[in-house]
Order: sequence, then C-alpha cells, then structure tokens
Amino acid sequence: MTIPFLDLGAAYRELASEIDAVVARSLASGWYIGGPEVTAFEEKFAAFCEADHCVGLGNGLDALHLALRAMNVDPGDEVILASNGYVATMLAVSMVGATPVLVEPDPATHNLDPARVEEAVTERTKVILPTHLYGQPADLDPLLDIAGRHGLRLLEDAAQAHGARYKGRQVGGHGNAVAWSFYPSKNLGALGDAGAVTTNDPELADRIRTLGNYGSHRRYVNEVRGVNSRLDPVQAAVLSVKLDRLEAWNERRRRTASHYLDKLAGSGLTLPHVPHWADPAWHLFVVRSPRRDALQQSLAAAGVQTLIHYPIPPHLQGAYADLGLPKGSLPVAEQLADEVLSLPIGPHLSDEQTLAVIKAVQEYAA
Ligand SMILES: *Cc1c(COP(=O)(O)O)cnc(C)c1O
Repeated sequence: MTIPFLDLGAAYRELASEIDAVVARSLASGWYIGGPEVTAFEEKFAAFCEADHCVGLGNGLDALHLALRAMNVDPGDEVILASNGYVATMLAVSMVGATPVLVEPDPATHNLDPARVEEAVTERTKVILPTHLYGQPADLDPLLDIAGRHGLRLLEDAAQAHGARYKGRQVGGHGNAVAWSFYPSKNLGALGDAGAVTTNDPELADRIRTLGNYGSHRRYVNEVRGVNSRLDPVQAAVLSVKLDRLEAWNERRRRTASHYLDKLAGSGLTLPHVPHWADPAWHLFVVRSPRRDALQQSLAAAGVQTLIHYPIPPHLQGAYADLGLPKGSLPVAEQLADEVLSLPIGPHLSDEQTLAVIKAVQEYAA
C-alpha cells in the first residue's frame, strides 16, 4: 500500500457533480472577470471568517503584497516576521521594497514569539506579520497588544489556516488584514491559483481591491499604480462549493491529528504542541526528529510519502544572499529546517491509512 502525502484527485471526485455544475453555470453566465460568483464567494468567506470584508485576488502572494501596499509600507520601513516558514511571506515584504526583520520562532509552536517581536521593534517598524504556520494559530493577543502600543499594523499570513480558531474565534478578523491563499493543496483550495484578504477596515478593503484592479475604481481612471490580480469567477464558484465542506473536511484532519498525537506519544519524535487556546486547522502535521532524513527514508521504504516544510529557511535561500545572514545566524529556524517532517494528513486519508502511517513510524522507532 502506498500512502500519498495528499490526494487532491479524491477531493475533486467527492464533489465532482456539484463542482461540474457550478463551473458550467459560471461559464454560461457570460461573466469571465468579476461578477456574481466572485461577489457571492467574497460575502460567504467574509461571513465564515467573522470579518466585515473579503477582497478576492489572484493568489496568496498578491494578497500579502497588496495588503502591505495598502498599509503604505514603503522602502525603509521594517516588517517583522518569523525566520522559519515559507519564502512567500518574505517575498511580499521585498515586493514593496521594505526590510524584512526576521525573528526566531518559538520552537514549540513554530510560530512568532511575542517576546522576541517586542525586542525587534524600532522606529522604522510598520507591520508585524505572523504566519499561522501549519494551520496552528499564532498567539495573536500579545501581538495585537505590541502593535497597539507602538502604533503598528498587524497583517496575518493565514494561507495555511482556513478554519483555524484562536481563543474560540475564527482566524480572519483579528488583525488589520488577513491574507489567504486558495492554492489547490490548502485546506480551502481552488482548482488553480486564487487568494483573498479579509479585514474589518473598509478603507483597507477598498484600497486592496483598487490596487488589484490596475489602481482603478472607475474604468480608465487610474488613481495609483496598481497590478492585475483578481479572483477568477470559475475559481470563486468552485471555492463556494468547497467552503460548504471546509468544517467537515477539517474535522477529518482533526481526527487524523488526534490519532497521531495519541499513538505516536512515546515514539521519540517531537509532536506538535497545541496551546490550550488554539484550535488548529491541521493543514500539516509536522513532527521533529534529529534523525529526520533516516526517518523519512524508512517511511518511504514502507510506502509512506512525507514532505519537508521547509528544508531551507528563507535567509539561506540564494534569493536572499544579499541579506548577509550566513548559516548560523538564525539557529532556531535552521535547526527546525533540519528536523521537521510532515506526515500525510488530509480529508481523504482513511483511518486505515492513518494507522499504516502510525505503524510505519512505530517500526522505525523500535
Ligand atoms: C501557500 C502559501 C503562500 C502563497 O500562496 P500562493 O497562493 O501560492 O501565492 C503564502 N504563505 C504561506 C504560509 C503559504 O503556505
């Protein structure tokens, strides 16, 4: 038995008749940019997130980038983010010409450590940018407190956190703006590229929408130099169907996660730490081992596909050689990159497959 890391085909097949019907409806409507499918999804996703506004965009990187632009983050400004995680978060900071200030994460949660954020604030800081990494909510209250005391904005990267809750409330309406990706493998995934920003700030929502539409409110009147980044109506129609399943599909992820947490305790691996206030979306189930590569090889030999999120921290990427942060400068992020391994998890992983993964890990540990 081969156990795939994530079975996206199964996600489509479960909903094929509904998805095919809304795709056909969308194609027949004559709306190929914007229109009722986009507005309907924006309203539905804002309601789901307990946020006032949702602006559909082309992808998650644009959501981060345009939110930073709408917050008037300029060259010379600093944005604080975690030193681990996916490079897109940092690329968005670079896209507006601002300086990324990398802060080591709390190794227990892999998320921003508020105490270290406070130490990193300078007169140039403009935005704090936590990622809800792996679908585990970041500790938002202390970050909001720091932002409030220093006059900063909070932008959340929620690309991995659809349906996660922080202190009982959905992620999506806490910070000044929350950036989402609907890349196909995310908990809420389109059938291509798609993204959005949710916010309770009507001005920010308007600015982000304008920036994504060539900087224009009115056709052929361009107030600012915008870009072209719009949520595709066919993807919006698909996302509306899939949003109805998000809670049920996250519940299946939760079931797998609780099996792993229960059965792999004592296996010698470091398992995810879930703070009492966190209700994770379990986008990924990430374990740590100092002998990660041997574990991955052993699981592969047993037919279990695993992935590494992420093998090279952003500051060690060629793209960021000019930061002058050589190996050894951010040891927490570097150690995590050497030790993390993501086990299969997703709404279409069966109990039988979950148990087979557990067995393979236990056999490796023995
Ligand atoms: C997927 C992802 C992004 C980028 O989203 P795209 O839609 O691929 O541009 C940004 N940040 C994080 C944490 C992600 O996981």
